[in-house]
Amino acid sequence: MFAWWPQLVDAFNQHAVTPLLQGLGLLEHFGDPRDVAEALIIAAVQVLIIGAIFRPLESLAPAERWSDRRLTRIDRTYTLIMLFGLNPLFAYLVLTPLARLAGVAGGEAQGDAGLLGLLPWLAGYPWLKFALYYLLFDFTYYWMHRAQHWLPWWWALHSLHHSQRQMGCWCNDRGSYVDGLLQSVVLGAFGVVIGVEPDEFALLMFAGELVQCYSHTNVRFGFGRVFERVFVDPKFHRLHHMVVDELRPNLHNCNFGQVLSVWDQLFGTARYGIAPRPTGVLDPMVDIDNERGLVAMQWGAVRRFWGALWSRAGWRPGDVGFGPDYVPYPSGHDRVTGQPPDR
Ligand SMILES: [Zn+2]
Ligand SMILES: [Zn+2]
Repeated sequence: MFAWWPQLVDAFNQHAVTPLLQGLGLLEHFGDPRDVAEALIIAAVQVLIIGAIFRPLESLAPAERWSDRRLTRIDRTYTLIMLFGLNPLFAYLVLTPLARLAGVAGGEAQGDAGLLGLLPWLAGYPWLKFALYYLLFDFTYYWMHRAQHWLPWWWALHSLHHSQRQMGCWCNDRGSYVDGLLQSVVLGAFGVVIGVEPDEFALLMFAGELVQCYSHTNVRFGFGRVFERVFVDPKFHRLHHMVVDELRPNLHNCNFGQVLSVWDQLFGTARYGIAPRPTGVLDPMVDIDNERGLVAMQWGAVRRFWGALWSRAGWRPGDVGFGPDYVPYPSGHDRVTGQPPDR
């Protein structure tokens, strides 16, 4: 990349990160402290872009007018914890050591694995290789996201991301940490299969993060008629977050794409031009997230997950609500008895 970038990372690493990790006794057995330094600088850039560009846009041209921003505050906390805490730590303590182990185990054979093993000429075209990796990742994300809505035990966790009634520029990192772990395992395993290097992985994730932060931003302009057919924009993702319309019970099952909207069009889940609806969920057992702090919110999601995991309804694909005992029931059924209303 640019020549000043490695210098900046090195300087920050030498003067801040390495001494800190040394002090914490974490320097010996894990990844490269440069990874932590790089993740922290990227985090600072990202927070600057959200705070200095996306957030003012919300005041200038909001999609939804709010009298206050009370509910968005917790999402900013989620973003700061993710970017400055969990992301760098996960890369350092888990990803890099794992990749190193895989490299040692694979030895020379590594070069023949994955996408490059299939299309060796790609090595000469790094940008094309990056674009192809991205396409494959985004495709995987699309199907994983459909599963997050389709499987009740996964929805039990993913619903925390959807419970936000004031969806805005900090909302992308609001989510269950168990869900985050599951997603990392799915995407990480896929990365190993197609042979992505750890530093490429970080760059891939960063590129996606910024687009996703923008697509959660509370603004009324999208990318226009042509680009909205290629990329996910705020209008497109806002429809994904709409509250269920009980008269049109399938309307909200749409726009699952992360960065590219092409998958939704290919697989028949794209919606455009629907009149804007409020965001959030109807289910009171999930909507209660809005009244909770971070720890209680995480705990609530884990209880829903546990309730779903051990019940038959938790494995039966389709929309569900949760009863007061955290056990899911198919949508339209009675909240307490779990029975359809006609019985
Ligand atoms: Zn979703
Ligand atoms: Zn979202």
